[in-house]
Amino acid sequence: MSELVWPACDGETAQLIRTRDWSRTALGPIDSWPATLRILTETILRSPVGMALLWGDDNTLLYNDAYALIAGDKHPQALGMSVHEAWPDARDFNQTVLDAAYAGEVSVFRDRHFVLAHNGEPKDIWVDLYYAPAMDEHGQVRGLLATIIETTARVQGERERERQGRHLEQVNTRLDALRVQLEQTNDKLVGDMAFLNTLFRQAPSFMAVVTGPDHVIELANDSYLRLVQHRPIIGKPVREALPEVVEQGFVDLLDQVYREGEPFHGRSVDVQLVSADGLAMERRILDFVYQPLKDGHGNTHGIFVEGIDVTDHALTEERLRVAQEVGEIGTFEWYPNTGKVVVSEAYRRLWGFTPDTDVTASMLVNQVEPAHRHMAGPSRLEQYDNPIGYAEFMITRVDTGEKRWIARRGQAVTGTKGGERRYLGAAFDITERKRIEEDLREAQAALHALNQSLELKVVLEETERVKAEDALRQAQKMEAVGQLASGVAHDFNNVLQIISSNLQLMELDGLGGLPGARIASAIAAVERGSKLSSQLLAFARKQPLQPVATHLGRLLGDMESLLLRALGDRIVVDIHQPAGLWNVEVDQNQLENAILNMAINARDAMDGVGRLTISLSNAAPDGADGAEHVCLAMNDTGCGMPPEIVEKIFDPFYTTKAPGKGTGLGMSMVYGFVKQSGGEIRIQSRPGQGTTILIYLPRALGEAVEARAPDSAAVHGNGETVLVVDDDAAVVATTTDVLTSLGYHVLRAGDAQQALAVLQSGVRVDLLFTDLSMPGAVDWVSLIERSRVVAPDTAILLTSGQLPDRQLDDDIELLPKPYSREQLARAVRQQLGRTPPVVAADRVAHQDLTGNGQAGRRILVVEDDPDTRELACELLSALGHEASGSGSAEHALALLKESDVDILFTDLNLPGLSGIELATRAIASQPALTVILASGEGNNVKLPADSGVILLPKPYDLPQLELSIAHAARPRRAASLH
Ligand code: ADP
Ligand code: MG
Repeated sequence: MSELVWPACDGETAQLIRTRDWSRTALGPIDSWPATLRILTETILRSPVGMALLWGDDNTLLYNDAYALIAGDKHPQALGMSVHEAWPDARDFNQTVLDAAYAGEVSVFRDRHFVLAHNGEPKDIWVDLYYAPAMDEHGQVRGLLATIIETTARVQGERERERQGRHLEQVNTRLDALRVQLEQTNDKLVGDMAFLNTLFRQAPSFMAVVTGPDHVIELANDSYLRLVQHRPIIGKPVREALPEVVEQGFVDLLDQVYREGEPFHGRSVDVQLVSADGLAMERRILDFVYQPLKDGHGNTHGIFVEGIDVTDHALTEERLRVAQEVGEIGTFEWYPNTGKVVVSEAYRRLWGFTPDTDVTASMLVNQVEPAHRHMAGPSRLEQYDNPIGYAEFMITRVDTGEKRWIARRGQAVTGTKGGERRYLGAAFDITERKRIEEDLREAQAALHALNQSLELKVVLEETERVKAEDALRQAQKMEAVGQLASGVAHDFNNVLQIISSNLQLMELDGLGGLPGARIASAIAAVERGSKLSSQLLAFARKQPLQPVATHLGRLLGDMESLLLRALGDRIVVDIHQPAGLWNVEVDQNQLENAILNMAINARDAMDGVGRLTISLSNAAPDGADGAEHVCLAMNDTGCGMPPEIVEKIFDPFYTTKAPGKGTGLGMSMVYGFVKQSGGEIRIQSRPGQGTTILIYLPRALGEAVEARAPDSAAVHGNGETVLVVDDDAAVVATTTDVLTSLGYHVLRAGDAQQALAVLQSGVRVDLLFTDLSMPGAVDWVSLIERSRVVAPDTAILLTSGQLPDRQLDDDIELLPKPYSREQLARAVRQQLGRTPPVVAADRVAHQDLTGNGQAGRRILVVEDDPDTRELACELLSALGHEASGSGSAEHALALLKESDVDILFTDLNLPGLSGIELATRAIASQPALTVILASGEGNNVKLPADSGVILLPKPYDLPQLELSIAHAARPRRAASLH
């Protein structure tokens, strides 16, 4: 029975051993196991510690439950296997301990480490191993008995302790390091604290810390203590420490910051603090902040006071501002990158900008005078290191448009933004200074000029004085000679009048037995004499002038043919005139006379061969003081003159020409005329070098009178008869009206035949005025030929819308149609002037017969010279009038009261009252009376306006006398005869 339950132990391994079929193993069936094996097996099965038995030649492994636990996943396969099969990895180790056992030795191993799989997971296991030989009953070693005690918990515990020990060590080491570091940091902190403390103490800004609701001053640095004059403030509430600030609201401010926990920033705040001596208050200006100090919960427990004393800066700024305001110094900041200019109020006032204008650089530049713009900052930006260095320039004020001088100075300052350029400058008004400078400069210049001119004057004075004396002498001479000439002309005219009157009377008397040719030559001589006396009058500047605006180029153009005729064909005439030549104010007739006189002198100087150049230009004579003149320079290639002749050239009657060749009055006339016209005359001449005579005439600003304005006296008719021939009745009618209004007597004809009939009838016709194209049998050529036969004294004037088909005789003129009243008047006058009507007694008689009502007038002749008076009376009687004489104005006035007189014929110069006074008084008492005033001074008599007095220049011939009577017979006109 017992056999069946062996091994009769509890446990899993005992169960396995019991149930296993051992017969196929090296141990053989369990029943056959030797007793030793059985005992040993039972021993290990019953052992509480892990035990194993390696038995027999095969080293079959038997073990207990404790071993099975340690063997892990090897169990249960390992049970009954050869140990080498069961633990192949530990074959060497097992062989070693087996060998030792079989040698009778015991092996012990402590804390041997194995990694064994338990439930498939490798597990670290530490064991103590005890190996002892197992012997059979014969004392023969048959196997090995192994005891295995797991020490994993102990080994791991030891290991953990070791690890912790090591960790502790490390921590200690680290702690040591930290301590060292801490010590160092502490040291540094102490240093830093000291440094901070020093910083705090020495900081330029004032600092203090106040704590608690009463603001107890805990800390204050040196600056703060300085500010409060080193009063003992530490540990005291502000209220006590600095009582003077309470009133000024600073404690309230601290209260507010403490209460609300918000910082307060003050800028340029005025504070009054007790002064060092404690006696007065001192003003300080501060920038400061009250910064609340908070604990971890955000509660304010104190206030940090920090700030800077800006008193000096603020006062400087204030002084600067006041200086700017008072001194009107404008400041500006200019940012060239944007063109922006920030300007002060004073600056705005300088330029006249309103306070709200955004001033820009370009706006400023625009106001600067263009000539000064190169000094403006923007103009200099690129070229100058400092574009706003000192400069003075003129601006136009924006508001008033006033011109002001501005001085500017400035310099670059660092911009707040990187790379930004910025300039700061100041400007002020220097207009007044400039004005003073200018005045000064002018005064200095004037002084300088004065000095210079004084020096120059001293040098020149002598020459000038000599020159002036010469000029004065010359002027005095000219004046004296002029007066003399005028007197001579006057007397000369009177003498000529006597001669002329006698000649006229002789003619009337039937020539007094003399041949007609003698009388004619005598009359011609009177005319020459009369021309001379008119030249004398011109020299004496007593010629009546009718200056009109004249273009000299045109006048010369009109004169050209006349000049060519006068000079002859061996003298070349050149006329030069520039474009833009001004007009001059001049009497055209007199100027023509002057030019003709000079041209004839040139011709004589050139002996008829050479070149005459007339150049016109806008040029003033020296000493004209800016007055504008036109110069007429006449140059000849003649013999020229030495200075002594030039000196005398203007003297009346000075001539170098052979007796009878020159009168010596030509240049005198030119001189007198130019002077009377407000002009100047200069002569440049050297013997053999030709002569240039320069005439300067004052500029006229008006339009040039188109055609030469004729002498009004010259264009009026003197009652001459004009025969107007035209097939156009309307033309005849208007022409008649014009001619009648001009003072002509007009006869009319519709064609050449009618005209011839009139001429043949014996009616006196002074001028035949005919159209070229005419209907009927007789053409204009035949009309002229026939008129020359039947009326040889009749002048001829042609008119036509086109050019005549044949050459006209020299004495016949053509007036192109259409013509103006003036052109007709002038042409008629000119043609009538060509052939002075020789008045014959029969003509006069004939005219008388025409019943013009001119005969039989009662005429009172007033003349102090008995011969002249007598002659005048005789002439008037010859004309069929009743003439009586009187020697003085006074006598004449008495006579006028007593007897009936139609016409008062008086001389201008009378011993008592003058002719003009006589005329005025006579007309006043007898308004119906007509007065004829005869004058030896030619036309140069100023008559009262509207006097109605008829002027008759001496010497007069019979027709002129007759005409003046004819005028007197007409209803009185406003204007005089001349
Ligand atoms: P007249 O021609 O009758 O001699 P003027 O008064 O015209 O009188 O001239 C006076 C003098 O001036 C002349 O005689 C002549 O000697 C001189 N003279 C005038 N013009 C010239 C001239 N162009 N060239 C040279 N001599 C001149
Ligand atoms: Mg002459």
